[in-house]
Amino acid sequence: MKALVKYEKGVGNFICKDIPVPRPGEDEALIKVVYAGICGTDLHIYHDTYPNTPPVVLGHEFSGIIVSLGSRVKNFSVGDRVVSETNQSYCGVCELCQDARYCLCNERKALGQKRDGAFAEYVAVKSSNLFKISESMDMKTAALAEPLSCVVHAIMERSTIQAGDVVLVSGPGPIGLMALMISVLQGARVIVCGTSTDANRLQMAKTLGAKRIVDVTQEDLKTVIDEETNNRGCDVVLECSGFGKAIQNSLSVLKKRGIFTQIGLTEDPTLIDTNLLCFKEIDYRGCLSKTNWSWRRTVRLMEERAIPLETLVSHVFKLDDWQQAIDAAMQRSGLKIVFDIGSETSL
Ligand SMILES: [Zn+2]
Ligand SMILES: [Zn+2]
Repeated sequence: MKALVKYEKGVGNFICKDIPVPRPGEDEALIKVVYAGICGTDLHIYHDTYPNTPPVVLGHEFSGIIVSLGSRVKNFSVGDRVVSETNQSYCGVCELCQDARYCLCNERKALGQKRDGAFAEYVAVKSSNLFKISESMDMKTAALAEPLSCVVHAIMERSTIQAGDVVLVSGPGPIGLMALMISVLQGARVIVCGTSTDANRLQMAKTLGAKRIVDVTQEDLKTVIDEETNNRGCDVVLECSGFGKAIQNSLSVLKKRGIFTQIGLTEDPTLIDTNLLCFKEIDYRGCLSKTNWSWRRTVRLMEERAIPLETLVSHVFKLDDWQQAIDAAMQRSGLKIVFDIGSETSL
């Protein structure tokens, strides 16, 4: 089968090549991948700034169809349409695993990072990681379930947003726009900020329900937030840009006793004014990956068509054109970039 592989450590070292179809273990399902999305994590792995163990098939955001099942798998059938949790193995006995926070387990091995992932025609996944989706669900949109589950975890489990809150989303990339959609759903008044290179994405934020968009190279963020909150400061910041300067900027407009949630990683050495955390009693929260609860909630929201997730897919590439796809993702020219791996082939 065709697969996009990181073949050794270092910058780049991606190759699209033929490898054997994986054999599912007795508790695994073999899935024919239909669509798979490129994530910031894949770009970090390209630059070798995120843990990975080559040779490894890349990709962890996908939708697919079950083609065969290991002998011990229950509750699933061949032909089921599924999306999947990415943490393929963890110890199961540490305190974090016992508390169902397996994404924080020291022995966590995720698809596309330390286990063969979904930028391939087939992927083998532990059946307990799978979530069925309905026949009517668009498979291209379904490939966005994994990043959405991370955003649901960040907002519903790691932040507190109440109706009427003013929420600042910093960084209008795919994750930022998902954070906008979920915050609107929670009843917040959302302001989205970015830079001049985000012009199209900021316009998109406007159409997706942002009450106000701010290009921080043109407008002073503090003045806007003061205007919008009667000088109180925003209630919650959802930091999705990954830029140190943006982190400092949005910390400065958060209200006293506000919640600051860091979604996603930064490659900048970030300087935070920790005195500000004390003076304002800021609740600074990190989040990594997601939980089983956030997955179930995500699938429910998608089945209910609660948010217009499909609007986020801007480019579709074939796996052979992976370099173009990676370049487009790095240039941040579009939004979500997905590979069409199996939409035209039958089971
Ligand atoms: Zn991802
Ligand atoms: Zn563990």
